[in-house]
Amino acid sequence: MSTTALETINHVIGGAQTAGASTRTSPVYDPATGQVQRNVLLGTPADVDAAVSAARAAFDAWADTSVVRRARVMFKFRELIVEHTDDLARIIAAEHGKTVEDAKGEVIRGMEVVEYACGIAELTKGEFSDQVSTDVDLHSFRQPLGVCAGITPFNFPIMVPMWMHPVAIATGNTFVLKPSERDPSVSNFIADLYARAGLPDGVFNVVHGDKVAVDAILDHPDVDAVSFVGSTPIAKYIYERATQAGKRVQALGGAKNHAIVMPDADLDFTSDQLIAAGYGSAGQRCMAISVTVAVGDAADELVEKIRLKALKVTVGPGLEPTSEMGPLVTPEARDRVKDYIGRGEGDVVVDGRELQVEGDGFFVGPTLIDNVSTDMSVYRDEIFGPVLTVLRVDTLDEAIDLINANNYANGVAIFTSSGRAAREFQRRVHVGMIGVNVPIPVPMAFYSFGGWKDSLFGDHHIHGPEGVRFYTRGKVVTTRWPDQVSDPTHLHFPTAS
Ligand code: NAD
Repeated sequence: MSTTALETINHVIGGAQTAGASTRTSPVYDPATGQVQRNVLLGTPADVDAAVSAARAAFDAWADTSVVRRARVMFKFRELIVEHTDDLARIIAAEHGKTVEDAKGEVIRGMEVVEYACGIAELTKGEFSDQVSTDVDLHSFRQPLGVCAGITPFNFPIMVPMWMHPVAIATGNTFVLKPSERDPSVSNFIADLYARAGLPDGVFNVVHGDKVAVDAILDHPDVDAVSFVGSTPIAKYIYERATQAGKRVQALGGAKNHAIVMPDADLDFTSDQLIAAGYGSAGQRCMAISVTVAVGDAADELVEKIRLKALKVTVGPGLEPTSEMGPLVTPEARDRVKDYIGRGEGDVVVDGRELQVEGDGFFVGPTLIDNVSTDMSVYRDEIFGPVLTVLRVDTLDEAIDLINANNYANGVAIFTSSGRAAREFQRRVHVGMIGVNVPIPVPMAFYSFGGWKDSLFGDHHIHGPEGVRFYTRGKVVTTRWPDQVSDPTHLHFPTAS
C-alpha cells in the first residue's frame, strides 16, 4: 500500500500545529489490519529547541498565575476529558490495538491524576512555625522547577503522560511531551483539550520523535526535569545522561511481575484474575503478571484452570466490541513474542502462535508455559506480550527468595486466604507495588506509583505526593521584623532561642 497520501502527524509547539524542521517520519500502524494508517514526524534538535523555547517563554507568567486559576484549568480539562472519553478511547484503540473498553479504563485512570491535580492548592500548602526564636518566624513553601519534559512509552499513550503533565502544570511548570512514536495521535488531542480548557499557549507542547528528539531533550540546557517511563535499558540511559546534564530525573523502567499462588487460594477466582492480568492489553502492561509462582500443590489445578480459560479468550480487533484481547503493537513486537514462545523453554501448554485471526494484524494468542525455571530467557526477559509462565516451588519462603533475586521489581501479587502469609509476604518482598488478591496493584492517583531496583532509576515515584515533590523545590524563610532599639547585633551564632 502506498503511504504517500497518508496524514502526517505534526508537533504542537506554542499552541500551534507545526512540521517544524522535521523531514523524517515513522509509520503508525493499525495493528489489527497490519496496514500503515498515518505517519508521524520525527523531531529534530531544532524542533525540540523550539518547543523548549516556547515552554521557557510561557513559564514566568504561568508560574505567577494564582494557584486557584491553575486549578481551574485542571477542572475544565477534566470536564473535557469526560466529554471526550469515547473519542480518546477510540484513538488509542486504533493505534495501540487494545480494546476500546480497556482504552476507556486507561483514560479514566489518567483522568484521576487530573482530579488529584485539581487539589493543587491544598497539596502545595507550606509550613509555618511561629516564634522559633525571639521575634523570629519560619516558613516553607515550594516553587515550580521551570521546563519539565516527559518521554513516554507506547503501552499507555494517554495514562502515562497524565502521570506527569497534570501535576507538573498544576504546580506551575511548563511541559514538553515526547510521546511514543507508535501511537502518537492522542497526545495532539490532549494538547487541543488543554487549549480549550484555557491553558496558555506554550505551557503544554508535544514534540514527536525517536532517539534524536529524546537526546536533544536530555542535553537541552533549558530543560529542568525529565520524567521517563519505558523499558529498563532506556530508563537507565535517560537517567544517566540527563542527571549528568544536571537535571532532576525520574526514570521508570520495565517489569517482570510475579504472582504467588498459595495452596489455600481460591483457584477459580485466582485463575480469572491471572487471565485478566496476563492477557489484558495482550500482556503489554508494565503491571501485567507474566510469572505465576505456584506454591506446593496449587500448581496442577491452577494450570488446568488457566489453560481452559486462556483458550476461551476472544482475540480480535480492539475496535470490535466482542474482542477481549487485541493484537500486539507492531510486527516487530509480534515476531519477538513468537520467537520467545518457540525457544523450547518449559512446557508450552497453550501456544498463542496457533491462533488464526483473519487479515494481516499483529495477533498472538494467549500463551501459557509451565515448568519454567529461573535460568530460562522466558523467565529472565521482559517479553511484553500475552505469555504467562508458571514456576513451581515448595514454600512461601522459596517464592519470596525467587522474587527478591529478580532485578525487576515493579509490581507483585499474592493470592491466598491466609492473612499471615500475606503479611509476611508484603513485609519481606523487595518490590514497590504489592497486591493481596489483587493482580495489578496500581496505586490510585493520590498515592505514588513506582517500582524498585531496575524498574525505577531516581528518588521519586510518579504522581501523587511524590509527583508534587518531584515537580517543585522547597524554600525555607526565616523572618524577623526587628525592633531597632532592643535587638543588639552579635557576631557569634545564637546561643539562646
Ligand atoms: P521504550 O523504552 O522502547 O520507549 C519509551 C520511550 O523512549 C519512547 O518515547 C521512545 O521513543 C523512546 N526511546 C526508545 N528507544 C530510545 C533510545 N534508544 N534512546 C532514547 N529514547 C528512546 O518502551 P516502549 O516499548 O515504548 O514501552 C514498553 C516498555 O515500557 C516496557 O518495558 C514496559 O515495562 C515499560 N513501561 C514501564 C512502566 C512503569 O511504570 N514502570 C509503565 C509503562 C511501560
